[in-house]
Amino acid sequence: MSISETIRHIENLEKAARRLEPGHATRRELLNRFVQYGQEFLDKLPNMNAYQESERNGAGLLDHPIPEEGREPEPLLDLLRTEVDTPGLNPASGGHLGYIPGGGVFPSALGDFLAAVTNRYAGVFFASPGAVRMENMLVRWMCSLIGYDETESGGVLLSGGSMANLTALVTARDHAGLKSADYPASVIYTTRHVHHCFGKALRIAGMKEAIVRHIPMDEHLRMRAEELEPQIRRDLKQGLRPFMIFASAGTTNAGAVDPVDELSPLAEKYELWLHVDAAYGGFFLLTEEGRKAIHGLDKADSVIMDPHKGLFLPYGSGALLVKNRRILFESQHYTADYMQDTFEADQEPSPADLSPELSRHFRGLRMWLPLQLFGMAPFRASLEEKIWLCRYFHKKISALSGFETGPEPELSITFFRYVPREGDADAFNRLLLKALHTDGRIFMSSTRIDGKFYIRLAACSFRTHKKEIDRALKLLLEKKAAVEQAFA
Ligand SMILES: *Cc1c(COP(=O)(O)O)cnc(C)c1O
Repeated sequence: MSISETIRHIENLEKAARRLEPGHATRRELLNRFVQYGQEFLDKLPNMNAYQESERNGAGLLDHPIPEEGREPEPLLDLLRTEVDTPGLNPASGGHLGYIPGGGVFPSALGDFLAAVTNRYAGVFFASPGAVRMENMLVRWMCSLIGYDETESGGVLLSGGSMANLTALVTARDHAGLKSADYPASVIYTTRHVHHCFGKALRIAGMKEAIVRHIPMDEHLRMRAEELEPQIRRDLKQGLRPFMIFASAGTTNAGAVDPVDELSPLAEKYELWLHVDAAYGGFFLLTEEGRKAIHGLDKADSVIMDPHKGLFLPYGSGALLVKNRRILFESQHYTADYMQDTFEADQEPSPADLSPELSRHFRGLRMWLPLQLFGMAPFRASLEEKIWLCRYFHKKISALSGFETGPEPELSITFFRYVPREGDADAFNRLLLKALHTDGRIFMSSTRIDGKFYIRLAACSFRTHKKEIDRALKLLLEKKAAVEQAFA
């Protein structure tokens, strides 16, 4: 191509490419329409199902492949409404009492919006000192919540608990100096109720061969600290290499809190990395009741907590906190020639040096904004409300004849089942849960404890109040009666 042809070609391409930048008026139109969609969603939310069975399951999306020329926004919003925001679980609903719901506080959406519009790069201090300061300030706030020393501790915001646990595991491994040849003799101590992302993390870290010891649990489903030391001694005697305790502060199954302050002296004595998975439970430290259940996290080498659970943020927010941020840096940082300008004059640690991520979402803003706009008080109240709602539910359901319940909840998760006079209890509760799902007004999930099928209630959304718990109780009784008839 001659230079003039090249210029003409570039000009034509620019003309087509400029459609990627809508002008002020178009932006306003789009904004209005999408904001209206969000407003309608939230207005209707109290009457929406927590779970919606559907035949098509969103398959209508497939009728609209990615086009060469763009579509109008209106039909796209219709698609979103019918194909995405209707079928399946409704995690925004206060009736969502399954898994671990959070809800999604509204200012987070505004934070995400602005983070995406400005697209600040929060990976490296030099690139966006403000964004990195904001994220580090949130990390320090969480560190102080668990009682870490401010000068030594640190951490990083990640997409969720699974990534945070993986990063913690790798950090512990590197700190212990373990190489692949060591893995078959390396031992990690946990319980059967550890979150399954632990097994996933082991596999991803290439440590499948490592030995996992499930330490027995007490009647509250917490690790029995007194069983740990004899096991460590047996392992040492066998020539194995104990290196990590993977404890939970709030298990997903039962909300049980392992006795971290009894584990930490053993971690110290045997030089084990003490990790606490507080993905679910961590933010209960904001409440007095939570602080009765959870203590000693300041002694842990690493702790994870999920703002998309305990701070009610929308999905996509986890945090890894470490007692000594140097160790995290040593495990996670890496350099490259094209990154050579980034290490100069860093006044703050850069998130890209503290996790596997490089280009990353500026996820601090979605957490900072709600905390700043609302203050901590309503978060504390809502978390404590969840603890009392769970106790209330547990009391009510324990008083109903035929229902068998788990131990008094420590936080805001409990489990139960109906034991029919005759027939298989597992089959009955499966039908009971299915009936609840078909109804859809509230959603609970299930688990297996000691091999038995249990229905599980987790109160962890800021939109869950007494009304939702009462509705759950009422529906349980209704559906139980219906299943009983069918079951007989
Ligand atoms: C939710 C949860 C995880 C996994 O976190 P994600 O954010 O879902 O990746 C890990 N551990 C516990 C205890 C959890 O509750």
